[in-house]
Amino acid sequence: MLITVADLQLDPVEFDEHFSPDAIDYSPDIRQVGVLDTKGRADLIEEHRGHKQVVPDIRVRGDYAGRFEVPCARCVEPVEHPLEGSFDLLYRPIRVDAGAAERAISTSETEIGYYNGDGLVLEDVLREQVLLSLPEKTLCRADCKGLCPGCGRNLNIEQCSCESTQVDPRWSALSDLRSKIKS
Ligand SMILES: [Zn+2]
Ligand SMILES: [Zn+2]
Repeated sequence: MLITVADLQLDPVEFDEHFSPDAIDYSPDIRQVGVLDTKGRADLIEEHRGHKQVVPDIRVRGDYAGRFEVPCARCVEPVEHPLEGSFDLLYRPIRVDAGAAERAISTSETEIGYYNGDGLVLEDVLREQVLLSLPEKTLCRADCKGLCPGCGRNLNIEQCSCESTQVDPRWSALSDLRSKIKS
């Protein structure tokens, strides 16, 4: 859904959208399960700079809720993450701040994003919110045993025969050292 500056110049835009799992590309290992719901509104905020320049910023605020699956960092089994949150963000046209690097950025400006072209794509706002809300590392359980480095079996589900012969690399370094001392 594109929220254009032209639309916002007439009226604030209210949205109540339901995105199917294929509507938004997150990243290859993040899967949306079921519908992502979002509801909110967008307003035009005209930022006056100097005498003539008026910058059309878009403020977008709303709530979202959806379910996601992310692979466990150790065993790669999918782990479900229900997400729910709200956002209140300001987007500025992308070219406006170019070449103005020396302009002091106050702390209140750190939340500013940028939009490209005629307006803001709501799907982009949600992608960003979801990526920011998911934890950096997901484990299916705190004591996940992961995959056997020898045979790739999921050690939470089954034992494998190579496990007993698998030697921790720190120990093998030590036994190398021992054999060198002996010889
Ligand atoms: Zn796991
Ligand atoms: Zn194994």
